[in-house]
Amino acid sequence: MAIERTLSIIKPDAVKGQHIGQIIARFEAEGLRIAGARLCQLSRREAEGFYAEHSARGFFGELCDFMTSGPVVVMALEGDDAIARNRAIMGATNPANAEPNTLRKLYAASVGENAVHGSDSPAAAAREIAYFFRSIELS
Ligand code: GDP
Repeated sequence: MAIERTLSIIKPDAVKGQHIGQIIARFEAEGLRIAGARLCQLSRREAEGFYAEHSARGFFGELCDFMTSGPVVVMALEGDDAIARNRAIMGATNPANAEPNTLRKLYAASVGENAVHGSDSPAAAAREIAYFFRSIELS
């Protein structure tokens, strides 16, 4: 397996619910290292740019409203097969369909407000990490 980096976001619902610590502890327990991390409030423009691939979807406005509704934690996670492993730890987009003990089953309330984001491919991981971090901010 290759060592990869992937972008994780703890979304506003999980920050408000005070689950930052539990989510980071879970990543570390699963062997994913935090290579970079920042708490920040996304602007509308930043949220729209991040989710640009979804701009034609009916839920795009709602998604950007949600992602700007409070602070988020953006992180670069590093480890063996980190992209797929983070997606497995997160669970399905809709928490109703998520496996037991996944982050979305544990912490998400709905398909829209679903606690965490994770890059879904190497190309997305590269784009998304560069969207939030300069290389000097990662170690
Ligand atoms: P992900 O890769 O599992 O995050 O899922 P997608 O790439 O399909 O969707 C991106 C994000 O858009 C999801 O994590 C949700 O926050 C949001 N989203 C997806 N489907 C819906 C929907 O039907 N309604 C709303 N409000 N948001 C959605």
